[in-house]
Amino acid sequence: MKLALISDIHGNLEALVSVLNHVEKQKVDRIHCLGDVIGYGSDPSSCLELVNNNCDIRIMGNHEFAALGMEDIDDYNPAAQKSAIWTRAQLSDREKAMIAEFEMSHTLDDILLVHASPFEPKEWHYVLNAEAALEALEYLDEKLCFLGHSHVPQIYAERENDLPRTQVGHDFLPDDQSRYIVNVGSVGQPRDNDPRACYVTWDSEEYEVLYHRVDYDIETTQDKMSQANLPRMLIARLSMGR
Ligand code: ZN
Repeated sequence: MKLALISDIHGNLEALVSVLNHVEKQKVDRIHCLGDVIGYGSDPSSCLELVNNNCDIRIMGNHEFAALGMEDIDDYNPAAQKSAIWTRAQLSDREKAMIAEFEMSHTLDDILLVHASPFEPKEWHYVLNAEAALEALEYLDEKLCFLGHSHVPQIYAERENDLPRTQVGHDFLPDDQSRYIVNVGSVGQPRDNDPRACYVTWDSEEYEVLYHRVDYDIETTQDKMSQANLPRMLIARLSMGR
């Protein structure tokens, strides 16, 4: 079985369309989405529609929670707060019902799909360093956990009597001993200084994780965000990928 795992699209339609076109050439069996389809970008509805039509398993992100009014957005920074309120106002009842169907996590054989962390998924903990990965691994029953949330492609590999090995996201073959937490990066708002859209494929026969980077029309996305009057900081960061 070959899977494409996409996450953190954030209403960026141009990035999502480019990624879906790229995925088509990888001959995957299924596409699964790890959450945050919406929030920040100017096309929440079109992105939801595409995810609903193309993705098999759809995982809940904190931005979906916010759109459903289930997340306290007082802690969000001002730009994120403004975009969350704007996004919520764009969505129809039908689209909100679509989001409400998203799952908190999903296990497929020896892999776990979740948005933020296997540890208290509704608390949206960030796995950003070896200490956080060690805690998350305690809650992981599967061999591999694929997640998003930080928008930074990263791999944490379990080690005996040591903190997990932390590496920048790269193609790899899991070894027999370790369990892994794999951050698949972000389709619509990368934050690793590479503005290209990012996603991962997992091939359970080749036993291989591959990272993919995809160019998309950033300027068009930025123009649409400007027209929607979305915060300037969110528009500017797309060209820098951070
Ligand atoms: Zn996100």
